Amino acid sequence: MTPTRHKHDHTDHKTPSLPAVRPRDAPSDFHVLAKPSGPICNLDCEYCFFLSKEALYSGDRFRMSEEVLDAYLRQLVESQTGPEVEIAWQGGEPTLMGVEFFRHALDVAAGHRRDGQILRHTIQTNGTLLTEEWCELFRDHAFLVGISVDGPRELHDAFRVDKHADPTFDRVMRGVELLRRNDVDFNVLCTVNAANQDRPLDVYRFFRDELDVRHVQLIPIVERDNDTGFQEGDTVTSRSVDPARWGDFLIAIFDEWVRRDVGTMFVSMFDAALASWLGLPAGMCIFAETCGDAVALEHNGDLHACDHFVEPRYLLGNITDTHMLELLASPRQREFGTAKRDTLPRYCRECAVRFACNGECPKNRFTRTPDGEFGLNYLCAGYKTFFEHVDGPMRLMADLLRQGHHADEVMRILTKAPRNGPCPCGSGRKAKLCHAT
Ligand code: SF4
Ligand code: SF4
Repeated sequence: MTPTRHKHDHTDHKTPSLPAVRPRDAPSDFHVLAKPSGPICNLDCEYCFFLSKEALYSGDRFRMSEEVLDAYLRQLVESQTGPEVEIAWQGGEPTLMGVEFFRHALDVAAGHRRDGQILRHTIQTNGTLLTEEWCELFRDHAFLVGISVDGPRELHDAFRVDKHADPTFDRVMRGVELLRRNDVDFNVLCTVNAANQDRPLDVYRFFRDELDVRHVQLIPIVERDNDTGFQEGDTVTSRSVDPARWGDFLIAIFDEWVRRDVGTMFVSMFDAALASWLGLPAGMCIFAETCGDAVALEHNGDLHACDHFVEPRYLLGNITDTHMLELLASPRQREFGTAKRDTLPRYCRECAVRFACNGECPKNRFTRTPDGEFGLNYLCAGYKTFFEHVDGPMRLMADLLRQGHHADEVMRILTKAPRNGPCPCGSGRKAKLCHAT
């Protein structure tokens, strides 16, 4: 299927209404990442997988129309069964749409809100176009802003450059400063790639000590080496993170975090792992058993199976033709979601840390298991080492929480253990050689 290009300039076009009966397979809750400016961005980060998506809509203005905006917000708000609705904007670079677009979108969303519903707004940005006006809007409407930073200057500038290949660090820091000065709630999204993979503590401490952020999301760069920009082929570019180093990167940060930052720094990977050790949903789609409840909306109303699968094969339809709830409930999308579990190779099915990993994201499953079965995650070696490494501390934290204590007590238990005794994490090593300080 090729992406549809909807113009809809005739004013009497009616976008679809909520189905009278909720489709049987519709998720009760789902997540939409909307790209009001499509893949268009003012920067040209070398590893970015969105820019190649421009080719899918060649000749397009890449600007969400009033019709799509209204259909999107109405369908999203009326489909959600819970009291909270998250409205998430991404790109490309969504701030290219201008402040007025977002002011208007807030009004449209508020107009569709039902009594008792709480609308929560999030936006992911590279931060370079932020102004006082943007920050006022974010603060006044309690936006959670995700800002992309890959670490200190030299690591950030390795790949995050503009269209002239000029570095962007100073412009991003200016954006961070504006957010901070205006009391905007923000967190950092950090890609882990070939340039920063060997500097985990420099990256983590920069966020904690220099940027003073409390929430960090680490995103491994696995960039397939092909000309299509799609999830095809089994080789990766030289910018991609190395699997074993990805594991080492997570472990180095985890070991610092578990000794001194539990309860004050929040690293999404670690929160997700703790949830898994507690037997709860991980809260990150990549670690869930199945997926399919996080779709991507293009500027023209095209809905794709996932933000990482904005490809003709994964186009579900257009929300100006079919209600998004029906697209989410469609057999194609349900199969997309369950395939994550049903295509796991035996190596994963028998893996001791499968409960936490679940084979991670299907987009990264293009290598072979030691016995030759296709479909193993490229990052497997890293995840295996990481999840095995955190098992002891995770068990301790999970037990603390089950007993009504706080997880941060793990820091005292680990660091104050008798130095010559066994480490309480269960590693079998002496405490002084493990977690004791
Ligand atoms: S394909 Fe990957 S990123 Fe997309 S929903 Fe599934 S696990 Fe999440
Ligand atoms: S660690 Fe490797 S083998 Fe285990 S579930 Fe994850 S990808 Fe599969």
